[in-house]
Amino acid sequence: MTDIIAVIAEHADGGVNPVTFELIAFAKKLPEAESLPIQVLILGADIQNPAREIAKASGLDVVGYEIPAMPVYNGELYNQILVRHFSGAPPRYVCIAHTSSGADFAPALAIELNGACIGGIEDLLISEEGGCFARPVYGGKAIAHIRPPAVTSILTIQPGIFKSDPPSDQEPGTVDIRSASPTPRWWHSNGVKQMAVDTQGIAEAEIVVAAGQGIGEQENLDLIDQLASIFSKSAIAGSRIVCDLDWLAYGCQVGVTGATVSPRLYLACGISGAIQHVTGMRGSEFIVAINKDPSAAIFQVADICVVEDLTTFIPTLIETYRQTRD
Ligand SMILES: Cc1cc2nc3c(=O)[nH]c(=O)nc-3n(C[C@H](O)[C@H](O)[C@H](O)COP(=O)(O)OP(=O)(O)OC[C@H]3O[C@@H](n4cnc5c(N)ncnc54)[C@H](O)[C@@H]3O)c2cc1C
Repeated sequence: MTDIIAVIAEHADGGVNPVTFELIAFAKKLPEAESLPIQVLILGADIQNPAREIAKASGLDVVGYEIPAMPVYNGELYNQILVRHFSGAPPRYVCIAHTSSGADFAPALAIELNGACIGGIEDLLISEEGGCFARPVYGGKAIAHIRPPAVTSILTIQPGIFKSDPPSDQEPGTVDIRSASPTPRWWHSNGVKQMAVDTQGIAEAEIVVAAGQGIGEQENLDLIDQLASIFSKSAIAGSRIVCDLDWLAYGCQVGVTGATVSPRLYLACGISGAIQHVTGMRGSEFIVAINKDPSAAIFQVADICVVEDLTTFIPTLIETYRQTRD
């Protein structure tokens, strides 16, 4: 018997992560939401205030598990508590943000609940047969439509896709905070070290020249640097992979887990256009993308699509600019 749609809230530093309200908006669009109640679950330490905020803004009932021993996210403890919470009455859907933590615990939860797991959902299609979930595959070049046959489905939803609803004018939902003391077997946290990330440079630049893994090697950042130096008020940015490779500092990362930028011009060089990157730059006034793959997803948001090898195109562009200027 499945009797609820569950939404797992994200929170940090005593506040609600805005993606939580996007998940609630998504859950309300599910065809089953007409007959099944939506319950929001929040887990961790210091959850009183965020739980109340969610209940007030959404009008939905919130169940919280206060876990003082979990000051930071721990996927093993999340799943222990969620499995216990759903024991006896598996939910129809569990809606989770497709963030680092959500993408981490969702597959294990699906196994525990004997359910389906559909990750990185970007669209919800509704037909007579019910809901169907769309997610990008092959690096965003194709979209898969998935209709899960399982009784319970664990869904991870891309942040930045579903617009959150304005605050509800209904009565606030109830807040039920329970205490829990699960014991970790495999995973012990030694705390979190906050990285000093300065994204001010790219957030304020009028022209952003962004490098992706397609630059091939760190030495080719010199090309990006030369291209950026053509423009005044410009800055260099990068995709997450480029930052993970340590080619650029994390302060240069654009995307859901980096900075959101909206410059006058965004030059995407060797960037595939994964939704996590596009979410951080789609608000740019004008987008030029250079990619040697004509079907790269970045071209879907670009105003000008340059299908070229950047290692030959960028030097030619710079040379042409210099000749024109002189
Ligand atoms: C929870 C989560 C959060 C994430 N957050 C972010 C985020 O904030 N920001 C982010 O950027 N990513 C993020 N990612 C990663 C994201 O999914 C992609 O993996 C990443 O954006 C891809 O980076 P890329 O485009 O540089 O590399 P790739 O996907 O490898 O693309 C390289 C592109 O370069 C092209 N190319 C190759 N050689 C050349 C050449 N010589 N000339 C021209 N083009 C060339 C290729 O055709 C390809 O399209 C996140 C992922 C997850 C799961």
